[in-house]
Amino acid sequence: MTVRTRIAPSPTGDPHVGTAYIALFNLAFARQHGGDFILRIEDTDQTRSTPESEQAILDSLRWLGLEWDEGPDVGGPHGPYRQSERKDSYKDFAMKLVEEGKAFLCYRTADELNELREARRAAGKQTALKQSDLGLPADEVDRRMSEGASYVVRMKVPEEGTCVIDDMLRGTIEVDWAQVDCQILLKSDGMPTYHLANVVDDHLMKISHVIRGEEWISSAPKHHLLYQYFGWEMPKLCHMPLLRNPDKSKLSKRKNPTGINYYERMGYLPEALLNYLARMGWSMPDESEKFTRQQMFDNFDIQRVSLGGPIFDQEKLSWLNGLWIREELDSEAFSQKFQQWALNSDYLMPIIPLIQPRVDKFSDVVPLAGFFMSGMLDLDEADFENKALDKDQVRRVLQFSLWQLEAERYWEKDRIFQGLSGLSKAMDFKIRDFLFPLFVAISGSASSVSVIESMLLLGPDMSRARLRHALNQLGAASKKEAKRWDKEFRALQAVLESQS
Ligand code: GLU
Repeated sequence: MTVRTRIAPSPTGDPHVGTAYIALFNLAFARQHGGDFILRIEDTDQTRSTPESEQAILDSLRWLGLEWDEGPDVGGPHGPYRQSERKDSYKDFAMKLVEEGKAFLCYRTADELNELREARRAAGKQTALKQSDLGLPADEVDRRMSEGASYVVRMKVPEEGTCVIDDMLRGTIEVDWAQVDCQILLKSDGMPTYHLANVVDDHLMKISHVIRGEEWISSAPKHHLLYQYFGWEMPKLCHMPLLRNPDKSKLSKRKNPTGINYYERMGYLPEALLNYLARMGWSMPDESEKFTRQQMFDNFDIQRVSLGGPIFDQEKLSWLNGLWIREELDSEAFSQKFQQWALNSDYLMPIIPLIQPRVDKFSDVVPLAGFFMSGMLDLDEADFENKALDKDQVRRVLQFSLWQLEAERYWEKDRIFQGLSGLSKAMDFKIRDFLFPLFVAISGSASSVSVIESMLLLGPDMSRARLRHALNQLGAASKKEAKRWDKEFRALQAVLESQS
């Protein structure tokens, strides 16, 4: 059997370190077995997927030195590798299951579904909906059909019994069918759900091993059943432990920067970040901390992955990166890599128009633009002193802006500006006063170049990390205060939404 593994990102946001971590383990497993590693874009959610996000994911995985043998940009014998380009085929697979009595058309409305769930809850049963709940009398189905009512295709799922899944790391996992609902396979717009498209494509692309994050364990019974229904052999499953924040919660952008771009902008070497991701839950036989990608592949054994949640710790990453910088780079390589990082024209060109109008001589550049090449800024309370805002107002502006920016899915100039200026109005501040703490947090100075442009170039994670850092310097909200602020913030959001 040829080993074929894959990473299947959905292009709905910034490239995430978790995607790189899973990609690395899939690549290592494939290389260890002389197999292939495939990149497939799962963009069936047309409202959330964007080509920009897809490009950013490909770019950042490549920056890390991860390469794929087949994918949307390199082609391959099992393409297309973008699900939106395969969308017509999924319907046939769904309808085949309907013809064979393994799936059914469901005409239930959203209100009816809520009522059915409510009824199950009231009866003290699992809320997973079964065919016995969802079925309608034949004449009612005919009526809705003739009225052209919208429908979805759902898979049939046993009402009772257990589903047994084999996992390469966890052994057998048993799930009661009672917890599994009749999953939608085809949505009312004719698009497949993740479950259908993922199973069909893994089969057609001859994927032999599915190595993915543990958050997908609950999908495994549905996939298991789909493979059975289609009469296909199921790939071997391996659910990797999730990356965690230092407080053990699931790694999230609210607590830790999660974007690969952030780590690039912070000036980590891709080799070191990859080395660190390899250390997440896995160790070399000799327990060495610093090793190359090739050394990992030469020594790889998936059974050495430990299931205790690996902590993504920035300090540890910095320490490891320091080893790489000091031990692997001579002065020539250091100089070259530093120039490439700080002065590459992709990064520099959009900065020039911001600073050039203020520059009389080149020696003005570093004081003006140094914050574009920095990590966290050296700030203290005095930097935030201002006639119009007292310290608590500054803290509130920073915290509310941070929340506002955490909710921003697209990092675009107009959206950032509109979001923040709306917030400023709702908080009853003049925009100039409102922006003051942001200027200081982002650039270190109230008289710097446009703070919105700066945030745009620094990227979402770096901008948010600086706001969080500034807030910490001034004293982050206590639990009680955070609760009160959260309430206030929600109320402001509600006002803003009602106005838009
Ligand atoms: N599209 C899914 C994701 O975004 C893929 C999950 C899987 O590997 O099956 O991660």
